[in-house]
Amino acid sequence: MVSANDTVNIAYANNDGSNDNGSSNHYYMRQALEQAYLAYQQGEIPVGAVVVSANGEIIGKGYNRTIMDADPTAHAEIMALRMAAKAMGNYRLTGCKLYVSLEPCMMCLGAILHSRLSEIVFAARDVKTGACGGVIDIHANHQLNHQTRVSMGILQEESTALLRQFFKERRQGKNHVNTNKV
Ligand SMILES: [Zn+2]
Repeated sequence: MVSANDTVNIAYANNDGSNDNGSSNHYYMRQALEQAYLAYQQGEIPVGAVVVSANGEIIGKGYNRTIMDADPTAHAEIMALRMAAKAMGNYRLTGCKLYVSLEPCMMCLGAILHSRLSEIVFAARDVKTGACGGVIDIHANHQLNHQTRVSMGILQEESTALLRQFFKERRQGKNHVNTNKV
């Protein structure tokens, strides 16, 4: 198993060359987790994401809404990427970072690679669908035309606790799944 502070391919560096002191990573992951709580409140698997531009502005955010939208692609990362690309007026998000509360799946990692994001920071490992080493490690394939830095562990315990709470309630039939169209 991986530890809370394990890193897949750590590279905390800003575009100005200075090192992150960790507080900004915490701040952005907190925003991603706030999105995850919104998913939880809707009865969706609680995963949230934000996209941060090269100058530190949050330009995209989203949470998992696959049930509400009846859309298997409506993962948090996809929602955040779409908003960010609209904000940038460009599908390429070069220099941007994605913070997500759970390790991205294959679909999301594919979208992330197409967007040319510079860095992924995720909170909790996903041993069921994770594509950054949880199940498979797509980054291990160096034939890919774009390499994105990946690191993990920030607010991992809180993200994991929220997911556990969600699945516990679902097993107990307590889930307030909201399938109403909005
Ligand atoms: Zn996904």
